[in-house]
Amino acid sequence: MTINKNFLDLEASYLFSTVNKKTREFMASHPDVDVIKLSIGDVTRPLCPAVIEAMHRAVDEMADEKTFRGYPPEQGYDFILDAILQYDYLKRGISLKKDEIFLSDGAKSDCGNIGDIFAVDNTVAICDPVYPVYIDTNIMNGRGKKIILMPCSEEKGFLPDLPELPTEDVSSCSCGAEKLTCAEGATKGRAPNSASDTAPVPDIIYLCFPNNPTGAVASKAYLKKWVDYANAHHSLILFDSAYEAFITQPDIPRSIYEIEGAKSCAIELRSFSKTAGFTGLRCGYTVVPHELVFEGVELNSLWLRRQSTKFNGVSYITQRAAEAVYSEEGQKQIQENLSYYRENARLIYEGVREAGFKAFGGKNSPYVWMKIPAGFTSWSFFDQLLEKCQVVGTPGSGFGKMGEGYLRLTGFGSRERTLEAIERIKKYFG
Ligand SMILES: *Cc1c(COP(=O)(O)O)cnc(C)c1O
Repeated sequence: MTINKNFLDLEASYLFSTVNKKTREFMASHPDVDVIKLSIGDVTRPLCPAVIEAMHRAVDEMADEKTFRGYPPEQGYDFILDAILQYDYLKRGISLKKDEIFLSDGAKSDCGNIGDIFAVDNTVAICDPVYPVYIDTNIMNGRGKKIILMPCSEEKGFLPDLPELPTEDVSSCSCGAEKLTCAEGATKGRAPNSASDTAPVPDIIYLCFPNNPTGAVASKAYLKKWVDYANAHHSLILFDSAYEAFITQPDIPRSIYEIEGAKSCAIELRSFSKTAGFTGLRCGYTVVPHELVFEGVELNSLWLRRQSTKFNGVSYITQRAAEAVYSEEGQKQIQENLSYYRENARLIYEGVREAGFKAFGGKNSPYVWMKIPAGFTSWSFFDQLLEKCQVVGTPGSGFGKMGEGYLRLTGFGSRERTLEAIERIKKYFG
């Protein structure tokens, strides 16, 4: 037996373990101080009553021979798929088919598993800073050397630039065929990357908006550029919209399919985790439109085959819980929780700015991305904040090189503790 050596290429992630270790040590040496964690990356409010009631009913059904259910359908029960189609898409003018939705145990799993259906030699474009799952799962699959990091800088609003377009006409391939119909499998019908000053064309592009960790959001015009780029180069976009429920501005797209042309170039990952507090319950879904055709094969059929072979569906009780999120009561109740987190994030954003810091995000997002003062690194400022204010943040450098110089604060704590943390920060730094 030999092991998958790709795992040895993974960088040990010390981010959250180091944050916890430093916090524990500080608390142990200062037993009477009161430490506040603005580093929480998980929801803290309980599941809403509509969800709990639906689960109780489903449990009773499972106890009765007449209503008991065994293996669920591969992609999810009709009742939940219909609710998703109706509320998440049709209401926003997007029409999808039921068999384009795949219910799952969460976006993290899908995000990693989707790599099964792509060849190992694809190049992969990933943002820096980033949710580490995109990088690590590609390394595990053997694409570690195929990763192109896209720097997301403050000057660019933490949005990655599109790769520079090749100077020659990209609408036809070197073989003379029109794009998408080219017979040269290796070049996938795209113009060769001949100009040496041209960035390589990524085969797969990971985008996440609203963004974790920066809280940045993408406008329709910006996403349109990526969609056009992906269609022109026959690249695939993996769009993670785990935080779409935090969007309040009506002009910010919640789904990539609000962008014309996205169905032929994008897979969308969604989750009930942040939307409805399902982090401990586990439910999400992935959208794979039939229009996604690469080398003459529908990605939808590959993903269906993958899921029906390696995944046996989401529990009936969880699917009823997810369905309840879309009920009138459920919608009202989850909005109360979302507003609570959003208001926390807004208070943090305003608070750290009043204390004299530059800050980003905190709007349409539970995350505030705070710029730390000159003379500090992400980690030395983390120590300073812990020591002087007894407040815990997450060092930006833990999300990638470009995160150096920033700290992530989150709105997932309690209001009272959040306000207390802000007062301390203002008092010490303001
Ligand atoms: C929290 C989060 C998810 C959701 O993951 P689940 O597995 O559904 O809980 C997905 N993407 C990002 C960027 C996240 O922060």
